[in-house]
Parts: sequence; structure tokens; C-alpha cells
Amino acid sequence: MLEHLGSLPASMHSPSSGDSASSAAQRNEHAFWMQQMDITPFDFSYLKNLLQQAYTDWLTQHDSNWSASSAIYSVWNTEGICVATTADESMDRPVSGQTVMKCLETRKAQSLRGSDEHGDFLFIAEPLFSRINKDMFAVFTAFIYEPNRYETSEEIVRSEAAHYRTCFYRRFEYIFMADLLKAHEQTAREEHRRSILFQIVQRMHDKMDVDAILDEVFDSIDYLYPTTHMNLYMSQDRNSSNPRIRPLLVHEHGEDICLRSFKDGQTIVIRSDHGENRIVEVGLPLKGKQGIYGVFHIQMNDELMEEPDLQLITVMADMAGTAFENAKLHEQSNMLIQELRLINDLTQRLNKSLHLKEIYQIAELELKDIFQAESCCILQLNDTTNRFEVMSSSIGELRHKSFSLDYGIAGLLYQTEEPLILSNYAQDTKVSSVFMEITGSMSLMASPIRVNGQVKGTILLGHPKQQYFSYDNYRLLQMLSIHVGLALSNATLHAEVRRLANLDMLTGLYVRHYLDSVIHEKQANEFCGSLIVVDIDQFKQVNDTFGHQTGDQVLKQVSDIIKSSVRSDDICARWGGEELAIYVPQLGIHQALEYAEVIRSRVAEETRPPVTVSSGIAEWNWMDDKVSVESLFYRADMALYEAKNNGRNRIVLEEQEVTR
Ligand code: GH3
Ligand code: MG
Ligand code: MG
Repeated sequence: MLEHLGSLPASMHSPSSGDSASSAAQRNEHAFWMQQMDITPFDFSYLKNLLQQAYTDWLTQHDSNWSASSAIYSVWNTEGICVATTADESMDRPVSGQTVMKCLETRKAQSLRGSDEHGDFLFIAEPLFSRINKDMFAVFTAFIYEPNRYETSEEIVRSEAAHYRTCFYRRFEYIFMADLLKAHEQTAREEHRRSILFQIVQRMHDKMDVDAILDEVFDSIDYLYPTTHMNLYMSQDRNSSNPRIRPLLVHEHGEDICLRSFKDGQTIVIRSDHGENRIVEVGLPLKGKQGIYGVFHIQMNDELMEEPDLQLITVMADMAGTAFENAKLHEQSNMLIQELRLINDLTQRLNKSLHLKEIYQIAELELKDIFQAESCCILQLNDTTNRFEVMSSSIGELRHKSFSLDYGIAGLLYQTEEPLILSNYAQDTKVSSVFMEITGSMSLMASPIRVNGQVKGTILLGHPKQQYFSYDNYRLLQMLSIHVGLALSNATLHAEVRRLANLDMLTGLYVRHYLDSVIHEKQANEFCGSLIVVDIDQFKQVNDTFGHQTGDQVLKQVSDIIKSSVRSDDICARWGGEELAIYVPQLGIHQALEYAEVIRSRVAEETRPPVTVSSGIAEWNWMDDKVSVESLFYRADMALYEAKNNGRNRIVLEEQEVTR
């Protein structure tokens, strides 16, 4: 029965209060119910304390006048062991033990007369029975000297035994009541804890902000256990303003409670003595479904930490883990949305332009702004010189500079093909960099720009503060650099397409409209220039005699001769059919004639089947009345017409014929 007190029916836990009829009835009911409570043989082995307490109670209450000098009362348990007595050891008599055993066996009162060195005695053993089942739970004995003085000894002892039994039951009920009250108190506390936990959990889940959730945990623990020391050690770096949130450092903690709790994902409790205080130390993982994020470390006085408290804190840490994970996921998806928005904005801006130079400038400004960097520099690999050239930079001194392939951060990235983040350049021995030195940067993020999978450039972002860029920044830069690379390869492709669109497929010379636009531009910006128009003589016959395909080959031969006879700045174009044109910038008609003559003689000698060409040359200069592309062509064409009329295989300058 005593063992089962913890699991009393719930209706018994609440004390009645007030004077209403119903609560009075309830009290009676309780009293009656108390009467029904009794010990059973299962309880007998736990009775020693109770028997002793009852003995003390009885001793203070019984009439000492009668028995103080003449009687010794004792109480024995069901195993025949004396558990309470006023006798000293000299009074121990083997007869008493035997009589008690007999009493236990027979369940009847026993009395024994005898004598010793003190004189005659009477020993009486009275069995004590439980009130409901009448189980014999103890034996009450009296040792009486001079028994003949008291004729009613047996009755007196019986009534003392009855009194003792009453004392026993009062004690029993008292203990029972105390247990009841304790259970009630515990339930009330448990209820309080639960309601607090409920509130905390509700508040936690109301929050979608990771820091707010962690603050909530701290506030709750502070409120519930004001003397507790709590810290949170986080496994991932978090810039928290809360000084109690710290990084979980593997090397600093060694094999301590936090690290173990983090590794095992389990609550760990360690109790230890600190002088007079017993301290309990708890490591509680902050974990969600996807992982463990950190460990709460709690230190408090052991007395304040009961099992239910531990359970409460554990549940709270569990809830915090879930709420934290949810908030983190929410935060991450927000960040992702933000990143996508950034990427979208950047690509839109980058793709507005198809000019490489402009794209580099946009990228520099945008990246500097996105990461709030102090300085930015973008370099491009020049395939011809095999050097990195600064394409755009926020630092004047670096513009138009170029660096060898094995130098600096760009060189390192070129070699490793990996991005790089530095939090303290001063302590880094891997690389020396003009960019870092000039800008006085301590933090760096650098990412290679890939075009068609190959490193074709690098982005460098710097800041004078140490540990300025976060890992998320670093990740985002890598993503953005992919888009910069795409924009650059788009622009490069576009430039190539434009170049191809300006070229004639058969001859490899420029097309007419390109020549037109170049001349137009030159006429706007330069002082003079000449145009040579070349036409193959009797080309129709070549086609008729050798076929169109051979005609094409001849046309190609002539084109190649033209290209290889002029300077690289001269523009050679197919003007139409078998008519070709060369614009020679900055040269007058007579200098152009020299080129035309080279072409004429080389064509006559080198072409197979052999053909000849006729040419007309015209020039313009800024002092002319009317400078235009059309007029230049018209005058050159007129000269060509003259050359044809005058017998072909010759060159005519406008208004002037020159023979070979
Ligand atoms: P000339 O210029 O000396 O007065 O005589 P021509 O025979 O060269 O002049 P004409 O203008 O009568 O003929 C030009 C010929 O060039 C006509 C055309 O068949 C040929 N031709 C034009 N373009 C091509 C081409 O791309 N390939 C080939 N095979 N022939 C072409
Ligand atoms: Mg011709
Ligand atoms: Mg022609």
C-alpha cells in the first residue's frame, strides 16, 4: 500500500476548500476513504520506521506514572525483531524473543512468568492486527517486574497495545496524507510546467526568425530557472548579437559534455560536487529532422533540477530545435528567393549590353554594390598575350594594367580553377596581390569567370575589414560569376556572328555594306582616303570556258592576291559579282595606285587559268565640296569604265589614265 501512494486516483489529489455542503461531504468521503486505507502483508518489511515513530508518539502520550520504573515496553516486527524499546541491553532476555515468536505463530497474546537477579517478572506479548484484514503486523510486549503488585497487568498491557495501535494508525494516516499532499503539489507543479511549456512552444512557433526563437528559449529558461547558467554552442557560424550564443569549437572543448551531446544527438546530464554545492550540468542538442544545429549547455544547482524539470527542459530544447529548423528553412527559402531576384536583376542588366567592355563595367558596379565591397576588379585572360588584363576596376591605378598568368589572385584562380575566400590577407601566405595591397583589403572573395568551361577571367572583391564576407556571400558570388561568364560568352558569340555577317563566304572579303559603313565612318573622322575598284576582265568567258566552279576559284585567287597585297588596315571587300574594292585609309590616289599596280601585275602572273583585272581609283579629302560614299564609288566606277574601254588589264585614276 505504501509503495502505491504515487498513483492515487486523480480525484484524490485536489484538496477540498470552502465550506459548501458539497465540499463537506467530500471531506467525509475522504475521511471514510482514509479509514479504508490499510497496510497489507506486502508492506510489512517497510514498516520499521512507522513502528518506531508510532512508538515515540505512544511513549509521549501514555501514562508514565504507572509503568515508568516497573515496566519495559517494546515493539517487534513480524520477523520477531525488536524495532523499538526503552530497555537497555542489560535487560535483554532470551525469553522475550521466544515468547514473541510464539505470539507470531499462534496469533494470540502470550504471557510468561519467571524470575532473574532483579526478581520475579511477567512478560506479556500482545499481537497487533491490521484494521481491515486483521493481518498481524507487529507484536507489542511488556516486561513487568513485581508483577504481583499489579493484578490487572494483562488488561493494562492490552490497553497500552491498543493505544499503541491507534498511534500507529495515526502515523500511517499522517504519512499517507503527507504523501497525498506531496503528490498533489507535484501535480500542481507539473501542470504549471506544462502550461508554461505550452506558452513557450506557442510563442516559439509564432516566430519565423531564427534569432527570435533562440532568444525565446533563453528568456523562458531565465524565467523558469533564474539561477541557471545557460549558453548555446552553435555548430555553424551565426552572427548573433546574443553573447550567450557561441560557436561550438571542436578543438577548444575537447571531449566535453557539449561535444558529446552534439555528436550523439542526446541529452547528457553530469552531476558533480563543487565545494558544498552539488552542480548538475546538462548538454541538450538543438536538433530538428534534418540535423543537429548546436548544443544548449545548462549549469544549475542540483536541488533545483528534478527529473520533471529535466524533462521540461528537454522537451523545450526539442521544440526549439523544430522551431529553429523551420525558421531556418524559412530563412533559407527567403534568401534563395532574394538570391534568385539578384541573379535575375544582374543577368537582365548584363544582357542589356552585347559589348564586352560594357558588360565588365556593369558587372563591376553591380557586384560591388551587391556585396557592399570596398573595391572590385575584373580581369580577362588575353589569349594572344597570355596575360590577365584589367577590364574594369574601381581602382584607377589598376585600370589598363596586365599581369602574367602565374601572378596574384587571378594567377592562383587560373591555376586552381577554384574560387577563393580570404578573411585575413595579412595572415595568408598563399598569395601576394597588388589588388589587396593597393586597396588595403583584408577580406577577399574571388571567383573565376568561365567561358565554355575554361577560366577566361576573374572577379576580385575586397574589403579592409577582416572576416567581412560571409560564406553565403561567397556562394552567391560563385553563382553570379557563372552569369557574368554567360553574358561574356554571349557578347563574344555575338561579336563573332557580327564579324561573320560582314564577311563574304566565297572570297573571305568584307561585304559591300560593311565597306560602305567603314568608309562612311572614316569620312567623318579622317582627312582623306582612296578607293580602288577591281573588275576581272572577260570573266564571263572564264565561266563559259571552264565552268562556274573554276570561275569561283579564280575569283578566290584574285581575292587572296588582293588581301595579301595591301596593309592590314586597308579594307578589302566584294563589291558585287566579280567586282572587288579596296579602301585605303589616309592615302592619296597616287599611293593607292602603287597597291593597285601590285595587284594588277600579280593577278596577271599568278592566276590559273590566267585572268587580268582592270581597276579604277578615286580619292576624297576633307576639303572636297561634297564628301560621300556614293560619290567616291561613282568616281572610281567611272574610272574603271574608262579602263575597260581603253583595253582592259589597266588602271585608271579618276580623270586620268595610267598605262602599265
Ligand atoms: P568585262 O568585265 O571585261 O567587261 O567582261 P565580263 O565578262 O567580266 O563582264 P560581264 O559583266 O558581262 O560578266 C560578268 C560575269 O561574271 C557574269 C557572271 O556570270 C560572272 N560572275 C559574277 N559573279 C560570279 C561568281 O560569283 N562566280 C562565277 N563563277 N561567275 C560570276
Ligand atoms: Mg568583269
Ligand atoms: Mg563586272
